[in-house]
Amino acid sequence: MTGRLEGKCALITGAARGIGLAFARAYLAEGARVAIADIDLARAEAAAAGLGSRAVAVQMDVSRQDSIEAAIAATVAALGQIDILINNAAIFTAAPIDEITRADYDRVFAINVAGTLFTLQAVARHMIARGQGGKIINMASQAGRRGEALVAVYCASKAAVISLTQSAGLNLIQHGINVNAIAPGVVDGEHWDGVDAFFAKYEGKAPGQKKREVGDAVPFGRMGTAEDLTGMAIFLASPEADYIVAQTYNVDGGNWMS
Ligand code: NAD
Repeated sequence: MTGRLEGKCALITGAARGIGLAFARAYLAEGARVAIADIDLARAEAAAAGLGSRAVAVQMDVSRQDSIEAAIAATVAALGQIDILINNAAIFTAAPIDEITRADYDRVFAINVAGTLFTLQAVARHMIARGQGGKIINMASQAGRRGEALVAVYCASKAAVISLTQSAGLNLIQHGINVNAIAPGVVDGEHWDGVDAFFAKYEGKAPGQKKREVGDAVPFGRMGTAEDLTGMAIFLASPEADYIVAQTYNVDGGNWMS
């Protein structure tokens, strides 16, 4: 099927690379117009330039309220409306409990939790004012379903995203706004560069070893790709998902169950 998002406009945060960029490509292929919002404007512009005239780049730091407002205004100016929001921007962090710093905690929660909540709030205001409902998709993680010894702050931030999805979903459905979330398992991408260095330090792993081990442990037989997630992102943005409210869906090759 193609054209399922024809006439729809989507704002995708953190879309200059990785999963957000795969979502942008998938939405464009389904006929949507897409704002590629990212803190890294140069990279967002380069990405948008390669995606054709229905893609625009927007500067956005989801941890700052003024930047959230400016990005929404820029998206509406360029696309006319926002029907779909994907709250995808997030940062990963890892440390043993004893080494977690207040600064790291504050930064992760400012982006992953406050960024998700206040972007959702601002876009929901726009959707309510338009009176035509909308779809909001938050990026959770299997890390939000269970703690991991060296990943406390990121896990807690994604547990908060799952909880916010439930509360916002229940609150906003009265306006025809569906809020749901996707919980990926382990997904290949550039962020693994930093993760690998971390596990080399704390678990004595050789370069690439942790990534291989994690991929081999997935019941499906390999680590996920960004493209593995796009079907769920299209479905949750489509009218077929109108009756789905406040849910978080695992897309993880069976990893969470294993
Ligand atoms: P990534 O690190 O590859 O890309 C994140 C993007 O967000 C980057 O383009 C970055 O510039 C942008 N960004 C960072 N801070 C920002 C800010 N303050 N404002 C706006 N943009 C900002 O990440 P990814 O691997 O593609 O992950 C995308 C989403 O999926 C995240 O929410 C992540 O937590 C979630 N997730 C990823 C995995 C995985 O294994 N990759 C697993 C589960 C969940």
